[in-house]
Amino acid sequence: MTERTLAIIKPDAVKKNAIGDIIKQYEAAGLRPVAIRMMQLSKAVAEGFYAVHRSRPFFDSLTTFMSSGPVVVLALVGEDAIKRHRELMGATDPAKAAPGTIRAAHGANIEFNAVHGSDAPETARFEIGYFFPEMDLAVR
Ligand code: ADP
Ligand code: MG
Repeated sequence: MTERTLAIIKPDAVKKNAIGDIIKQYEAAGLRPVAIRMMQLSKAVAEGFYAVHRSRPFFDSLTTFMSSGPVVVLALVGEDAIKRHRELMGATDPAKAAPGTIRAAHGANIEFNAVHGSDAPETARFEIGYFFPEMDLAVR
């Protein structure tokens, strides 16, 4: 099933000049970008994006991190894109991420873990809509 997912190249990975490497891995895995936006999130925008984590102990730290520098936000399309993207990213904690995954290569720890990926169809819909109006998504 062809589906969409949302990816974010987080501030740590942008600072490490890993944008090109990460997008290359999306394309090689058959996850085709249909919208790309580089931006700096405000704390409030990061809080809105991660609203599901509002009661978690790491919420303030996470949203401070996510608004600490520029990010690259992408809508990706492909077969089983949500699951395949999560596999390509690796586990949340880079120390537990399988070798060859993006987080194993570029993540530093469970918080500074290089990339975000939607975890289900409903969250992908919300997350893509949070950053992109439907008319900005290319058809590929
Ligand atoms: P994922 O990004 O793999 O879907 P979660 O949705 O559980 O993981 O968490 C969202 C983000 O919050 C993580 O990517 C990571 O940046 C941060 N995070 C998760 N767990 C922790 C933690 N225990 N301590 C600090 N930051 C965390
Ligand atoms: Mg998540």
